[in-house]
Amino acid sequence: TQQTVAFIGLGNMGGPMAANLVKAGFVVTGFDPVPAAAESAVSNGIAVASSAAEAAKGADVVVTMLPSGHHLLEVYGSGVLDAVAPGALLIDSSTIAVQDSRTAAELATAAGARFIDAPVSGGVGGAAAGTLTFMVGGSDEDVATAAPVLEPMAGRVVHCGGVGAGQAAKICNNMILGITMVGVSEAFVLGERLGLTHQALFDVASTASGQCWALTTNCPVPGPVPTSPANREYAPGFASPLMAKDLTLAMKAADDTLTDARMGQLAANIFRDFARHKGRGLDFSAVIELVREEPLEPTTGI
Ligand code: NAD
Repeated sequence: TQQTVAFIGLGNMGGPMAANLVKAGFVVTGFDPVPAAAESAVSNGIAVASSAAEAAKGADVVVTMLPSGHHLLEVYGSGVLDAVAPGALLIDSSTIAVQDSRTAAELATAAGARFIDAPVSGGVGGAAAGTLTFMVGGSDEDVATAAPVLEPMAGRVVHCGGVGAGQAAKICNNMILGITMVGVSEAFVLGERLGLTHQALFDVASTASGQCWALTTNCPVPGPVPTSPANREYAPGFASPLMAKDLTLAMKAADDTLTDARMGQLAANIFRDFARHKGRGLDFSAVIELVREEPLEPTTGI
């Protein structure tokens, strides 16, 4: 018999992800407290329930796509865990703290259910196209059970380890990304002030040891990479507040594990500052504008 899927959180990501499950033939019942999200889900063939627990009633699989770990634990505590079919598989695709993911797994196990963390990268475009990369943490058996459900939403599924490993991989990757984007931005601004053209710096660095995704795919200046957000006034892409969120989660994890991540901390501070002000609706590569604005005070030199 066809598995029934409950989908909790039908926002920018969850909406199109749930729609892809419907297209693949799953019977999907969803819940989102925001009326616009619920209405759009209905138009995509999702049956919308009046609460998360109602959506989860008798479900074999529950996918959550929520803003934070706090939301996830609240949803699990709202009757969802009692409502699901015995032995149901809970898949959380939200980006949340590793520790919250492990707490969610404990709650699920105590209720006789199973849990994997499966955060994604690929953004709203990847969610709509069904080409997200899932970074998955959980047992081999649970990840195998999840595979046919993830497939219609995924380009790639990487099994990273036990519960929490998906979240860990996601924040470690995005810490590299945040740091390198600031580095690339600083290099372009320094180059500008030394009379170097963007194209010349790109031609050298993109084929030399400065090569990285922040440079060659998401280049923060217009021109060298015509598809990068810099060419469309930094329309996201990957919005600055999401980068700030992921770096905040990474720094919480660094704190918890006594990891000296000074570059990550600096990037977290820079993106939090940027996201709160100018960067709010912009791609994270627009951080180059913040770098350009730094006061031009001569240093004394060492
Ligand atoms: P969003 O705010 O558009 O969607 C979240 C949805 O959850 C909202 O519609 C909200 O109403 C709903 N919600 C809140 N409380 C709820 C509850 N108790 N029950 C049911 N629904 C509830 O956010 P999004 O962009 O879809 O992101 C979701 C998650 O995916 C976040 O953790 C985010 O960090 C992560 N993520 C986002 C992107 C992206 O590009 N947008 C990329 C990768 C990962």
